[in-house]
This record gives sequence, C-alpha cells and structure tokens, in this order.
Amino acid sequence: MAVQKPGWQYVALLAGSLLAGLLLGWSNAAAQVNAWSYDFFLRLRPHPPVSSAVLLAIDEDSLEAYGGLLRIREPLARALDVLAPLQPATVAIDIVLSELGAEAENAALERALSRISNVVLAAHLRTNSAEKASGAWQEPLPQFRGPGITLGHVHAEPDSDGVCRRILLAKAGGGKRLWAMALEAYRLAHGGEPIVETEDGLELGPIFIPSAAREQRALRIAYRDSSSPIERLSLKQVLENPEAAAAVRGRAVFVGVVVPGGPDQFLMTPYSGGRAMSGVEINASAYETLAQGPLLRTVPESLALALAVAFAAALGLCFAVFSGRRALWTAAALLLAVHLTPGVFFAAGRILDFAPLAPVAWMCFFSGGAYHYLAVRGRLQTAEAQRNRYQRAVHYVTHEMRTPLTTIQGSSELMSRHTLTDEKRQQIAGLIHSESVRLARLVDMFLSMEKLSAGELGLKCEAVPPDAILAVCVERALPLAERKQIAIRHQPSNAGPIWGDREFLEYACYNLVTNAIKYSPARTAITVRAWHDQESIALSVEDRGYGMDASEIKDIFRKFYRAPRAEQSAENGSGLGLAIVEEIVVQHGGSIKVESRVNEGSRFTLLLPRAADRAMTTA
Ligand code: ADP
Repeated sequence: MAVQKPGWQYVALLAGSLLAGLLLGWSNAAAQVNAWSYDFFLRLRPHPPVSSAVLLAIDEDSLEAYGGLLRIREPLARALDVLAPLQPATVAIDIVLSELGAEAENAALERALSRISNVVLAAHLRTNSAEKASGAWQEPLPQFRGPGITLGHVHAEPDSDGVCRRILLAKAGGGKRLWAMALEAYRLAHGGEPIVETEDGLELGPIFIPSAAREQRALRIAYRDSSSPIERLSLKQVLENPEAAAAVRGRAVFVGVVVPGGPDQFLMTPYSGGRAMSGVEINASAYETLAQGPLLRTVPESLALALAVAFAAALGLCFAVFSGRRALWTAAALLLAVHLTPGVFFAAGRILDFAPLAPVAWMCFFSGGAYHYLAVRGRLQTAEAQRNRYQRAVHYVTHEMRTPLTTIQGSSELMSRHTLTDEKRQQIAGLIHSESVRLARLVDMFLSMEKLSAGELGLKCEAVPPDAILAVCVERALPLAERKQIAIRHQPSNAGPIWGDREFLEYACYNLVTNAIKYSPARTAITVRAWHDQESIALSVEDRGYGMDASEIKDIFRKFYRAPRAEQSAENGSGLGLAIVEEIVVQHGGSIKVESRVNEGSRFTLLLPRAADRAMTTA
C-alpha cells in the first residue's frame, strides 16, 4: 500500500540528502574510511604461494660484514657475478649509485653489471631546492649506465595517513620523465617491448596495464600477505653460500637496503600492522602486482555517482511505497546492499569507494525515514481528527433527528388517544408534516453524502431561472432569519437561465443562505443576487457576519470541517453542507468562489453554466 505520494517536498528532501552525502564523500574523514576499507579488502585478497620477485636484501648482517654502505659496491659486484649465470629475468638495484666511490670498487661493479642483462638502476627525483641545483634527477654515475642499462624512478606515493597504497608509474622533473623501477623491471622481464601510452593505460606489446592518465598513472600495489612475503635472500647469504642464489633463476631480483634509518625510506603499508616496509620491498611489491595480476582498477567517478543516485532513489522509493516495518526492513536491506557493493566490486578487481555511496545512503535513509515517520503520524492525526469530526456530526444528526421524531411520536399519540377539535387536529397534522419534512431533509443530507462519496449524484438538468432559485431559498430561510432579525435582500436581475438540476441548485443556495444567517450576528443584512459573469451565471450570497481568515477558507469544503468560531457558537452544524454544495457545483461543471474577512462578512459565489450555451452545444 502506498503510504504517501512522493510530492516535490519529498523529492527535494532526497535530492538535498543526496547532495549532502556527496559533499560528505569528499571530506578527509571519508577519504580515510575509503582507505581503511581498501586495506580491509586487500587483506582478504588471496595471493599466489610463490612470489615472482626475489629480494636481495642488504641487511644489517651484510652491512656489518662488508664495511657498511660506502663499501657495498664491491660485495654487490660479487653477488651479481653469482647471479649472472642463473639468468634472472631482471635485476633492479634500488640504490642510487650516484656517489663517486673508490675506483676499483666502481670498476668491479661496472664489470658485474655488464655481465647481466635487463638491469634497472634507481634514479631519484630531487625535492630539496638546494639539491635541485645539481639537476632534477639524482642518477647513477655515467660509468654504470652502459648499454642495456635502464633507469627507473623509485618514488613511493604515501597517502595522507602515511600509508603507501600506490606508486605512480611515471614521474617527471627537469624536463625528464622516467618510468617506475617496477614497471621497467616488468617490461624487461616480459619481452622488453617499448611502452605505448593510451588514455586508460600502458601497452607493453600484447600486455595492457590499466593506469589512467587522469589518475596520474597510479598503480595500486597488491601487497603480499605478511605471512608469505616476497622471497628474500641476504647479500651475505648469497656470497657465503652461492647455492642459495638458485632461487633467482628466471625471476626478478630487487636489490636494496632493508635497514631502517638507511638511505631508503621506510613506509607503512596496509599490511604493516605497525612495522614499516623498506622502499625496495615496496618496489618489489609493485613488480609483484604487475606480474601476478589481475590489476585493481578504480571504477569511473560517473559510475560511482550513478550508483549513489540509484541507491538514493531506491531508498526514497522504499519509504514512499512501503509503510511501517516493511519500509524499515527494506531500507535496512538496501543499506546493507550499499555496504556490500564495494566488496563485490573488489572481488571483481574494481575499486568502488565507500564514500560517497555510504554517506549518500545513510543520509537518504535518515531523511526518508524521518519524512515517512512524520507523514504516517500526520495521516494518523488527520484520520483521528476526521473520525472525531464524523462522530460529532453523527451525534449532531441523531440528536437533531430525535427532536422531530419525538414531536411526531407525541403528536400522533395525542391524535390517537384523544378526541380533538378539527382546528387542533389540523394544527397537529401541520406539526407532524413540518417535522417529518425536517427529518426527511436530515436523511436527505446523509443520503447525499453517501451519493457524493460514491460519485453518483444523478442530475436532471433543465433551464432554471437563477432568480427563481434564490426566491425559493429566501422564502424558506425567512423564518430562521426573522428569529435573528436579519433582513434578506434579494435584488432581482435579468440574468438568463442556468443549465442545472433545480432541486440540487436550490439545496446548494439554501445551504449558503442558512450559513449566512447562522454565522452572522443579529440585526444584520444578507444580500442575494444573480448576474451574468462572462461565460457563466453567477449566484451570490453575501453577509455582514463573522467572516473567516484565509486558513479557514482553505478548509471549509472539507467534510466535517467547522471553523473554531462556528464550533464555539450556539449554531448547530455538521460541517457537511459546503462539501455537498461544492460537489453539486462541480457536478454541474461550475465553480465556487469565497471571499471573506474576519468580522466584516463573507460572500459565496456560485458560477454555473448558462442554459443558452448548453442549448447551442446540443442543437
Ligand atoms: P456547518 O454549517 O454545518 O458547520 P458547512 O459545511 O455548511 O457546515 O460550513 C463549514 C464551515 O464553514 C462552518 O462551520 C463555518 O465555520 C464556515 N462557514 C460557512 N459559511 C460561512 C459564512 N457565511 N460565514 C462564516 N463562516 C462560514
């Protein structure tokens, strides 16, 4: 059952909630929630048991054994000599070999590098302005950059919470642009085809790497679970036990310092749990991401927005279509769906952020729910008020019926029990007649109400002179008016006939006249008249009574409505009269106009079809 027709206020409320949710989705807090949810999903992602990369770690033991970082080139050269015959797919050295160093050590490293194919050396983009004086990029010494040596940048891109979730596959500075070390290593390990850029990603021969230009070619790193990290060999281990190096055969080797406080920056990752990860491991993880696939892709913003709008609409509809608990449960199920959606997308390799989807859904849930609650409450109150009014009206009518019934009963008893004079008999018969007419009118009113509700007011239309209708009503109402010493003026007109049902029109006018009497103080005047009003015949009843304010005028045609003043007055009423009058006029194809001012008086005007027009259309 529809609880409420979604009016424009409801739609505006939902649109406002949608907008507020979208704005919330751009806040820092929302960005953090997005990051955390991403970390959560990432941790659930399974990893292949064996890593594609191997870490050749320059750890504390190695530094201690070979005289620290400054003396590392010679042992590194020896280690590369151990690796060379094992033909690793690629060797990426995440140490910027830019310092001069000792001649003999440099020569040894240069020789070792030349024996290995597919080497990537690290270059670092200077950020410090003092450093920048010597060039934007800090690069290896020229002697290490022989043929077949590629440079790759080694910058990680930590988010605002310090956690590194992505790297940029390209970085530019000083007019030079370098691909990331991980990408170069991947390219060399997979055929060495040149990189072709497209708007949505990079092509390496047949391989496509999704990384949109509009997202700065960012690559989300799919870190390996900390319980099965990238396989690691230490430099010392390789030199002391060359057999251990067998693991590098055909795999990508990432060489770097893994000692915190060393030259390499350590960063937090979604898996860190308080322990930062070395830069070389992050670069190796980026390689691993490319090698293991499938790559995670962020869904386009337009899709995220469309989903947010769709969920907002669904929630809005749910509160408009269902009611009570059903609405609440359906909306709760929708909310749950909203929170599961990013997970479903993640499982398909697509990243759909929680924000703005979730804030939009929550905003719409609360605003839709509140509106629904208020609307239902409002309806209940209206229904309650209507029921009360109806009860009062029934009470009034039954009470009103009792009086004529008692009179009829008493009079008939009198007639049957006693012998009466002709005059008395006549008088009593007259009383019975007038009381039964009153009773019939009350019954009529209720029957009209019933017919009105069923929409079956059958009209017997004919040409009726408006002044005739007014004259009948005035005559009938005179006794009432005299009781309050109210004068009724009828200004005859030369208005043409109305096309309508005489009886119903008299009923409507009589209602207006009796209302004018009821709601006017004693010794005032009422004017009734008819005239030509453009395409219609107008009938008006004007009084100098209590009048009504604008809000009361709005309600007077509602069934059982009585203005507070009418309620407090001594005048009886059911609040049904004007509802019937309006229905009669509408069924005639006419309209009703009310002008009223508090304490100045009211004028009710009925605009009804002309018989002349009717005759023309039927001719
Ligand atoms: P009733 O007269 O039985 O209360 P109606 O449907 O005829 O019911 O009128 C509805 C209400 O409109 C009245 O209770 C009264 O408050 C207001 N009303 C109607 N006619 C007039 C009038 N001429 N002047 C002031 N108030 C009026």
